[in-house]
Parts: sequence; structure tokens; C-alpha cells
Amino acid sequence: MLNQEEGESFRDRVSTIDETGHRKWVFAYKPSGKFYRARTLLSIFYLFVFFGLPFVQYKGEPLLLLNIIERKFVIFGFVFWSQDFYLFGITMILFIVFIVVFSVAFGRLFCGWACPQTIFMEMVFRKIEYFIEGDAPKQMALKKAPWTDEKILKRGIKYFVFYIVSFLIGNTFLAYIIGKDALVKIMTEPFSQHVGGFTSMLIFSGVFFFIYIYLREQVCTVVCPYGRLQGVLLDKHSVVVAYDYLRGEPREKLHKNQQRNAGDCIDCLKCVHVCPTGIDIRNGTQLECTHCTACIDACDSIMDKINKPKGLIKYASEDTIAENKPFLITKRLKAYVVVLVILFVLFISILATRSTIDLQITKTSGQMYNETADGQVSNMFNFMMINKSHRNFDSLELKVEGGKGQIELVTGEKYVKIAKEGIYKSVFFIKMPSKSIQERKQKIKVELYHRGQLIEIEKTNFLAPIAE
Ligand code: SF4
Ligand code: SF4
Repeated sequence: MLNQEEGESFRDRVSTIDETGHRKWVFAYKPSGKFYRARTLLSIFYLFVFFGLPFVQYKGEPLLLLNIIERKFVIFGFVFWSQDFYLFGITMILFIVFIVVFSVAFGRLFCGWACPQTIFMEMVFRKIEYFIEGDAPKQMALKKAPWTDEKILKRGIKYFVFYIVSFLIGNTFLAYIIGKDALVKIMTEPFSQHVGGFTSMLIFSGVFFFIYIYLREQVCTVVCPYGRLQGVLLDKHSVVVAYDYLRGEPREKLHKNQQRNAGDCIDCLKCVHVCPTGIDIRNGTQLECTHCTACIDACDSIMDKINKPKGLIKYASEDTIAENKPFLITKRLKAYVVVLVILFVLFISILATRSTIDLQITKTSGQMYNETADGQVSNMFNFMMINKSHRNFDSLELKVEGGKGQIELVTGEKYVKIAKEGIYKSVFFIKMPSKSIQERKQKIKVELYHRGQLIEIEKTNFLAPIAE
């Protein structure tokens, strides 16, 4: 149902920008209620996870590392290098499909309950703000007030605490990228040795400080494209935070001792006042709504007070509200789930069959072949082995498939040793009896064994002096 005074004009712009294009600052009232309590508990868990993942180690590696500089990624013990980037791509696609499936079924559930931006804004910074400046009316009064000692003190403390928390968040993000050991070095070693590191720390902290002191809900309503996608993802079957207009309308203020013929909405605006994105959910689903559930809690408390059933604002689909239909698993939703399951199975099978050592072989440039006095042809190759595991390998052996040729390392050794996560580069010759060669360019396979166990196979070409 539309706000009668505004008509549909509120749809012309996001809720926090006025007709002249200026920012409307949102002073959200402090929410309370069962959803807010549940979100607070979940946030505590989430914050432990966020601040813990880069610092907790498993098999000598952090639980999560996204080192884009060295192109090394660790996800719950699995180490990925740049050679595994396709896996990272699949992970990203999986994540996006997962979010799409969720959005089709439950709208922006992810935003309200799991998005780091919402968690930090609503569960960390907004709580700090309530603690220092008080609830929304006090914050509004403080903003309008002249710069008295009290205002300077409150604002000073707030900015200081915001910066400290931003610094912690920024450094944790940095730990996700460079690892905790590198972060500790930046913090403990002389500044001159880590100018770049210190600069990154300041930039990261500054970005987060700017986001939470100024950008705030604009990240969800203007910057993040996800809200805008809701228009194509949602349909009338999607469960969203919705106002039950059939029950609520016509809205009318509550007057004592007056016979009431209107709907259950008493137009108290509590749901609007608590909204951190500044919208009126009674106007229907809007892109700004992050499904934070604050309006559900607010309205439920009002329904309690006026002895009406809770749920005037609730999780419901348009179908449920308009026609009282239960939640329906639509064909579109089923199709998305099938895609998600296929991707997931693909990902797991690739992960399970991924070799622990990546072998790369390239023909040494400028070298075609050599004919030896004992009737053999030899080709020279450069090779690189990347140990993607947490295990040391002490006797790796290279062989030509089917014993068609012999491999001789330039080091003269038979076996190669490679430490965990190590890289080994060297050169070898493949020798084949010239009588056995039929083609000028022959495809061969080089096998890598460790203690007799085949680990990896790599294809290459062997050149020989045969006329074509
Ligand atoms: S409309 Fe309700 S659920 Fe949506 S952002 Fe506002 S308070 Fe949160
Ligand atoms: S909180 Fe409930 S009763 Fe009050 S204005 Fe919002 S929908 Fe109406």
C-alpha cells in the first residue's frame, strides 16, 4: 500500500537521497525483539569467525588466506595456487548461484543475516553509536546542537572508537591477504622495512573508517549492486520482509475510547523509525530493504501493546499475503537448485581428484634435438614442480610413459626432493632410441611417481630428425 501523501514519488530515488539529490541522514531507532536478539547472537559467532579465520592455523596454514600478491589461496586447509585458479572461479560461481537461489526463495536474507557490511554496521558500529550518543532522538539533537564541550567529547570518543574498530577490521582484512606472520612483522619491525605494509594498514583502516562514519547504509542502497538485482530475482513466490496490507489497511491512528473500523496498522511509524535504510516497508518491497527484520520486531511490539496478533510485518511472499498460499517451490527455484547441485558436485570431484604436485614441462627454447653416438635422440626440457600439499616429498621420479624413453636430470640425480608448498625447477633430457621413433614430432606423456605411486601425468612433444 502506498503512502498516500507521497504517492509513488518515493520510487524515483533511493530513500536516503532527497529531491534535490542531497543525502538524507538516517537516524535509526534502536531495535529490540526476538529477531534482533537472534541476529545479535549470530553476529557474535560471525565476528569470532571473521577475526579468527586468518589467525587460527590448521596444518601450519591459516584457515583462510587470500594472498593475491603471491597468488596463494588457502581455504580450510586446501592450498590453491595460481594454477588452480579455475577452481577459484568455480567457487565464485557457486557462491553467486547460491546467493541467487537464496534470493529467489528468500529475498535479501543474506544481506540481513550474513553480509559483513550489515553485521559491522548494525551490530558493531551502530551499537557503539547508541552507547556513546544514545538512541536516534539524542543523536539527532546532538547533530543539530552547537559544538559544546559535550558534543566535542561525544563525537571525539565516537570517532576515536570507530577508528580503532576500523583499524582492527582493516588489519584483519590485511591478514587475510598477506597472512598473520607478515602482519606481525609489519607491526613489530622498523617502519623503514615495511613502508608499503604500513601504508596498506593505513589505507585499509581509512577505507573502513570512511565507510562506517560516512557511507554507512549507502553501501547497501547505492554501492552494492545486489539490491538492484532483486527486481529480476524476486517474484510473487519469494519470501521477503513484507507488510500484510490486507490486514493493515486502511491504516488509522489509534484514538482512545473510539470505535475502530480501520485495519490493524495504527500508523505509529515505529517500523519506519527503526529502519536503517530509511524506508517505509508499508510501501511494498523496495531495493533498499536489507531484510534486517528491525521493522518486524518494532511492529510486533506494537501489536502486543494493542492486543492484536503479531505478524503485521513478517516474512511472507506476495502470494501468501494476497491469496494465503503457502511457500511454493517454483520451477525456477528448482532449476537454480539443480544448477547449484551440479556445480557443487563438479567442484567436489575436481577437488578430490586434484593432484598434490603440479608438474609443468616446457621444451627448452633454442633446442630441437641431439643425436648421440650410441644411436639415441635426446630432447632437452625445462620443468617445474609445485608442491600444493602440506607434505614433504623425498623421492619423486620422472618416467616416460610405457618406458618409451629415459629421463636424465641435469643434476645427475635420480630422485627429486621437494618440501611442502615448495617449488622445484630444473632441466632434464629425454632420450629415445632413434630406431623406435616414427614421427618427427611425437606426443609423449611424462609420469611423476613418488615411491612407486603415480601422482601426475603431463603431456609434451618429442622432436626427432625424421623427414615429414
Ligand atoms: S524495511 Fe524492515 S527489514 Fe527492510 S531494511 Fe527497513 S527495517 Fe530492515
Ligand atoms: S509499526 Fe506496525 S502499526 Fe506501526 S506503522 Fe508500522 S506497520 Fe503500522
